[in-house]
Amino acid sequence: MTVASAMADVRDRIDRACRDAGREPGEVTLMPVTKTVDADQVRAAWAAGATTVGENRVQEAQRKAAELEDVDLRWSIIGPLQTNKITKVIDVAAELQSLDRHEVASGLDRRLQQGGRSLDVYVQVNTSAEPQKSGVALEDVLDFTAGLGAYASLRVIGLMTVAVFSDDRDRVAGCFDRLAELRDRLRDRDGGGWDGLSMGMSGDFELAVARGSTVVRVGTAIFGSRG
Ligand SMILES: *Cc1c(COP(=O)(O)O)cnc(C)c1O
Repeated sequence: MTVASAMADVRDRIDRACRDAGREPGEVTLMPVTKTVDADQVRAAWAAGATTVGENRVQEAQRKAAELEDVDLRWSIIGPLQTNKITKVIDVAAELQSLDRHEVASGLDRRLQQGGRSLDVYVQVNTSAEPQKSGVALEDVLDFTAGLGAYASLRVIGLMTVAVFSDDRDRVAGCFDRLAELRDRLRDRDGGGWDGLSMGMSGDFELAVARGSTVVRVGTAIFGSRG
């Protein structure tokens, strides 16, 4: 299957999940995740309509972005971030979806201010409370997000999560529901904002759409398994 036809298939499934949930298909963005995928395939995803692609590693994103300079594509970092990569993030990325530490937020903000630009960010939440997982702990999200107002150059779009990997759909849905509930609480507290809910991957994006996702991050279902 080509990248274009796989993307069209995934898009059809998203649209169907939207209609089943009484949502407008235009409310959900498909973001291809291009980690381990070569630049030619990233180009194919762009040609098939992708406007933003997700990468876990900053250096990998930089390498591909250099090969795709002629392509107008936004790069979104979705993996754990070390503070020594902050400058590189700003060089390559328009968005960071894995923000879970103030140390990173303040480092980004300082360098963004120097460069006179901004960065879209999502706060990653550990909705499954698995100890090895990235993300702010559920009970810390209200405090963590209250401090983000200090960073004027970070445009806070919303929340992101990676659900528990499980065949038990109720457990997976529970992760998505917790993220959506948090979003509602943050909106109430802040009087708006927090529109973005980045949730859903190849194995669970239809369930995520049913639970209110606005961005699904899909790798395997578009590019095949990473082996
Ligand atoms: C790899 C990855 C994805 C995509 O996963 P697939 O199962 O291949 O669709 C989405 N989000 C994050 C944070 C990832 O690391």
